[in-house]
Amino acid sequence: KYPSDNINFSIIAHVDHGKSTLADRLLELTGTIRKGHGQPQYLDKLQVERERGITVKAQTATMFHCHKFLGSDTDFLLNLIDTPGHVDFSYEVSRSLAACQGALLVVDAAQGVQAQTVANFYLAFESNLAIIPVINKIDQPTADPDRVKAQLKSMFDLDPSDALLTSAKTGQGLEQVLPSVIERIPPPPGKNTLPLRMLLLDSYYDEYKGVICHVAIVDGVLHKGDKICSAATGQSYEVSDVGIMHPELVATGILLTGQVGYIVSGMRSTKEARVGDTLHHTRTVIQPLPGFKPAKHMVFSGLYPADGSDFEALNHAIERLTCNDASVSVTKESSTALGLGFRCGFLGLLHMDVFHQRLEQEHGAHVISTVPTVPYIFEYSDGSKLQVQNPAALPSNPKNRLIACREPTVIATIIIPSEYVGSVITLCAERRGEQLEYSFIDSQRAFMKYRMPLREIVVDFYNELKSITSGYASFDYEDSEYQASDLVKLDILLNGQPVDAMATIVHKSKAPRVGRELVEKLKKFIDRQMFEIIIQAAIGSKVIARETLSAMRKNVLAKCYGGDVTRKRKLLEKQKEGKKRMKRVGSVDIPQEAFHELLKVS
Ligand code: GDP
Ligand code: MG
Repeated sequence: KYPSDNINFSIIAHVDHGKSTLADRLLELTGTIRKGHGQPQYLDKLQVERERGITVKAQTATMFHCHKFLGSDTDFLLNLIDTPGHVDFSYEVSRSLAACQGALLVVDAAQGVQAQTVANFYLAFESNLAIIPVINKIDQPTADPDRVKAQLKSMFDLDPSDALLTSAKTGQGLEQVLPSVIERIPPPPGKNTLPLRMLLLDSYYDEYKGVICHVAIVDGVLHKGDKICSAATGQSYEVSDVGIMHPELVATGILLTGQVGYIVSGMRSTKEARVGDTLHHTRTVIQPLPGFKPAKHMVFSGLYPADGSDFEALNHAIERLTCNDASVSVTKESSTALGLGFRCGFLGLLHMDVFHQRLEQEHGAHVISTVPTVPYIFEYSDGSKLQVQNPAALPSNPKNRLIACREPTVIATIIIPSEYVGSVITLCAERRGEQLEYSFIDSQRAFMKYRMPLREIVVDFYNELKSITSGYASFDYEDSEYQASDLVKLDILLNGQPVDAMATIVHKSKAPRVGRELVEKLKKFIDRQMFEIIIQAAIGSKVIARETLSAMRKNVLAKCYGGDVTRKRKLLEKQKEGKKRMKRVGSVDIPQEAFHELLKVS
C-alpha cells in the first residue's frame, strides 16, 4: 500500500549540531536503513563530505511511518531533507526549504544558538515553515537545555515548551520527533486534481541512467510514461522512470501531489536540467513556479588543467559536476601563463575548495586554481564601468583615468563568549570592518554585527576568528551592497614578465605587506632552477617588493652514487610525478602549491 498522507520537512542547524546524525537515527527508527549499517552520517555520500565531516549537498530520503492520527492508524510518507550548515551552502538550504512545510531546528544543548542557527532560522521563518526546535546532545555533561530554551525564546520568540530534548547519540527523546513532525507540520498545499506542476530541485549525472532530477510535485500527479515539458526551455521529454529516494532510488511508477522524488526523462545534456525550473505535462498551460533566486557569486577563481593537454577532459568534468552543483558559474578564459581554462564563480571559499576537490575525486580532473578574487567594480573618466572577476582583466595602465573603485561588502554575524569580545573587535577592525550592532544573547554570549569588505572575509577570516576565540566563535554572513574603496592591482613578475594568473586586487593600505608576503611565499615554493629567477610585486610600473632565487643545478641522482637501480628509478619517477603538477610560465616551472599558497595571503 502506498500512503498518500505526506509530509515534507527539513533538518537545519549550525554545523556540527547533529543534523546528519539525527537524520540517521530517524532513518533507522523507520527501518529505512539498517541499524548499525556501519556508516555514520548515511546521507553524507560524497567523499568530500566524509573526509571533511560536513554536509555539502542537501539529501532527500523518504521514510514510511505509521502513526495514530485523528484516532486511527495512518501510514505516512515522510520526506526528510538533510541540509548543509556552512554559510557557503545556504543557497542549497534555501532551495531545499522550497519543498518543505516545516523544519527541525537543531541546536546543540551545550553550545546553544550559534551564527548559522540564526541564519537558518530566518531562512525557514521567511519561507513560512513550521519550526520545531530540537535541543540535541543532551547527553553531554555540559548540556544546559534550559539556557538554550531561554535563548530560543529571546532570539526567535519560540515557545520553550515546544522544544524537543534529544540525544541523537544515545537515542534519548528520539521517539517524540516523528510524532511532532506529523502533528505540527502541515501537509503540502497542492491538489492531485490540478494540472501537474513540479519543481526541479536538484540534478546529477548517473553513468547508466543519464541525468537524474530530484523533483517536488507541487500540483497534480506524475506517472511513468508521461510526456512532460520544461517551462524554461519548452523542451519535451518522456518520463522513463519515476520513484522515491528511500534513500536509494526506488521506482514507484507514480508521484502524487506534495511528494518529493526522482525522475529520469532522457535529458541528454546536463544543461537541460535547470534547477528551479517548472516541469509540466505537455499540452497543459500552467503558471510556472517562482523558482529560486539566482546564486550570488562571492568568489571567482580561474581553473586550469594542471597538464595543458587536458583542457577537454577538464571541460567535460566541469560540465558533469555543475549538473550536480548548479550554483557555480563557468565561463571560458585564457591566460598567457596557464593557457586555456575557466573562470568560475563560487558562493564562498569553502565552496570553491569543495568544488575543486570534487572535480579531482569524482571526475578525475587535475586542476590548478588561481588566486581567488571577489567581483570589484572599476569606473573610468569616460563613464565606462568594468566588473572585474579576474584581476588579470584589469588594465595595469588604463587609457582613461580611474575615478572610482568599489568593492562588495557583507553583513557578518558573530556570536562569541563574552571574554573574547576585545580580540574579535580588534580583528574586525584590522579587516576594515564597521560595527553595526553589539548586544548580548544571555549573560555569557555576545552577538555582533559588522559590515565588512567581502575580500577581507574570504581570505582566512574564519580560521583566524576561530583561532583567537579557541574555536568558540561562530560566524555567518549575508551579502550586502558595494562600497567605495581605494583599490590597486598588484602584479607579480617573474624575470620581468608579469604572470597574469597571479595578479590580485588589494586595498591600497595593504599592498606593501601583501606584495612582500607574496614574493616571499613564491621564493619558498618555487624550486631553484638552472638560472636565476627574480620575483617582483609591482603596482603599475612601480616595484614594491623583490626577491631573488639563485640558480642551481638540481640533480636528484646525486645522492645515490651507490648504484641501487630500483632506488634510482623510484627517485626519477618521483621527480616525474612532481613535474606533472608543475606549470611552466615563460621559462620558470611553478609547482601547484605555489598557486595554492598565494590564496592564503590577505
Ligand atoms: P551536522 O554538521 O549538523 O550534520 O552534524 P553531524 O550529524 O555530522 O554531527 C556532528 C558531531 O556531533 C558528530 O561527531 C556526531 O557524532 C556528534 N553528535 C551528533 N549528535 C550527538 C548527540 O546527541 N550527542 C553527542 N554527544 N554527540 C552527537
Ligand atoms: Mg551534516
